[in-house]
Amino acid sequence: MKKYIILLAMACMLVFSMTACGANKDKKDDGKFQIVTTIFPEYDWVRELTKGNDNVEITLLLDNGVDLHSYQPTADDIIKVSDCDMFIYVGGESDEWVEDALANKTNKDMVVINLLDVLGENVKEEELVEGMEGEEEEEEGEEEEGPEYDEHVWLSVKSSSIICSKIAEELEKADPDNKSIYEANAKEYIAKLDELDNKYQDVVSGAKYDTVLFGDRFPFRYLVDDYNLDYFAAFVGCSAESEASFETITFLADKVDELGLKSILQIETSDGKIANTIKDNTKSKNQQILTMDSMQSVTADELQSGVTYISVMESNLEVLKSALN
Ligand SMILES: [Zn+2]
Repeated sequence: MKKYIILLAMACMLVFSMTACGANKDKKDDGKFQIVTTIFPEYDWVRELTKGNDNVEITLLLDNGVDLHSYQPTADDIIKVSDCDMFIYVGGESDEWVEDALANKTNKDMVVINLLDVLGENVKEEELVEGMEGEEEEEEGEEEEGPEYDEHVWLSVKSSSIICSKIAEELEKADPDNKSIYEANAKEYIAKLDELDNKYQDVVSGAKYDTVLFGDRFPFRYLVDDYNLDYFAAFVGCSAESEASFETITFLADKVDELGLKSILQIETSDGKIANTIKDNTKSKNQQILTMDSMQSVTADELQSGVTYISVMESNLEVLKSALN
């Protein structure tokens, strides 16, 4: 299906170029530096780093609540990617569509930033911890796959700092006229991220517990690793599995009892069933169920209402504080 859409987009572009470059020419004439981002954190970082430069137009592709694992680009999305000036994407297994889109790019000077490439050795493979359900084995005949990397790198505030430095550096190179704006914005924003990182460290250092337990998928690996928290969860990463087995529920409920945890966590897309079933299977059945936002389905409406990467991570910190005490 994705292939079909991409071919369709290519056909559209061919038509445009045959009709005296209609669309592309108009776009270049408006003179704005076009930056296309896939997920909300990238969008928000670029918004912060380009603050004060009105000559930039930023597009968020995933703005209707569909997460990066389920996203299918439209023909229009493919066109936006292929002729923008800067394209930022995560670069994990959910972004396989990008390769085809970039192979046919019409702007040969495009700056492409792949978050996993930027982080290099800091990228972690998905980890199956005790009690967790793995993904179902691939059907026979499917290609051998390499290691599965955890794509949720934006949930590390430390990694976000590294990524923002890289984005600022590329903006300075691509648009040297506004170098001083990007430099100043990066300095200010990275200081805010560092402050947030320190706040997380303080909360964890002063906490009663050092373990979080998610009755859900688990995109927060990078966050818990940054502060040496232990974790248990029903599923590895954003596994496509949605039903937890009896063994998983029992294991997690026993873990809650054993550690005396007061909270069971879940993520923003949860229907609450698994966390509640775990709670019902504990001895005391009185845990609070708390939700952390992994920013995988931020919508255009939320964006309008002023949500930022830092505001979400500040809220997550309050949730974490409650879960650890
Ligand atoms: Zn995910």
